[in-house]
Amino acid sequence: MDNKILGLHHITAIAGDAQRNFNFYTKVLGLRFLKKTVNFDDPGTYHLYYGDERGSAGTILTFFPWEHMTPGRRGPGQATETGYAVPVGSLDFWMKRFEANGITCNKPAEKFGQRYLTFLDPDGLKLELTEVADDPRTPWTTAEVSAEVATRGFHHITLTLSNIEGTAAVLTDVFGYKLVAQHVNRFRYATDALDTANIVELVAAPGEAHGHVAGGSVHHVAFRVKDDASQLYFRNLLIKKGLQVTPQIDRQYFHAMYFREPGGILFEVATDNPGFMVDEPLAELGTHLMLPPQHESKRAAIEAHLPVLA
Ligand code: ZN
Repeated sequence: MDNKILGLHHITAIAGDAQRNFNFYTKVLGLRFLKKTVNFDDPGTYHLYYGDERGSAGTILTFFPWEHMTPGRRGPGQATETGYAVPVGSLDFWMKRFEANGITCNKPAEKFGQRYLTFLDPDGLKLELTEVADDPRTPWTTAEVSAEVATRGFHHITLTLSNIEGTAAVLTDVFGYKLVAQHVNRFRYATDALDTANIVELVAAPGEAHGHVAGGSVHHVAFRVKDDASQLYFRNLLIKKGLQVTPQIDRQYFHAMYFREPGGILFEVATDNPGFMVDEPLAELGTHLMLPPQHESKRAAIEAHLPVLA
């Protein structure tokens, strides 16, 4: 079988208040609440997952909400913009919706021939909606966010770097991405392994102070592979490149491995298997607090400690 990186799998960011995060992503942005679980490495904290109906790779945005987290600062060594695809003509709807909900947003602008709208989530995480014609993905919809305007999943992630060379080499030499466009210091890479969630933009910001990963920052960027065999293939390639890669870690809904790319950003390679229905049926995704086997025995203490989300 062809071993390919199939675009983005998920993006994980850091939030403050869990309820505020839940309200914004499910109610304002209209994403499905896919999974309510805990940070497996810090089980006193939630790990919240948002995406499409089934949690398809390329739609999954996840958060660690730490209540007293101080705000981070965007800068080199960070994923600085998380971009969603939306239908052409939907940006006016979104701009009005953000204004009505007190969400900071810019006026629509254009880059690489596409209209986009930049906005900040309540913790200051920078997001973009990019108008894409004929995105084939089926959107999750709500009473207020119809299919005519709903997000389709990721369009791109932007990485800001002091020096793009090492990161670009991982994208092109290991992950199969190609440089497809450039404007000033912004370089757009894409893989033709699939048509969606397949863009990574690198922004060269030499001399700028490094960013600080904390509240409102992306924690890591996960790329998608089909299965464990494909993940192992990429593990070996990355090690040959001289990168330090973790062994495979079971994250219950996917299998993960992590490495720090040369520009300083934490990358993950995650599998499609087993998926979000491994412990809840499709209709009930996100409705129970799900704990992995290693934390199930502590359920009562964990539940007593976590805030209720409504
Ligand atoms: Zn991850």
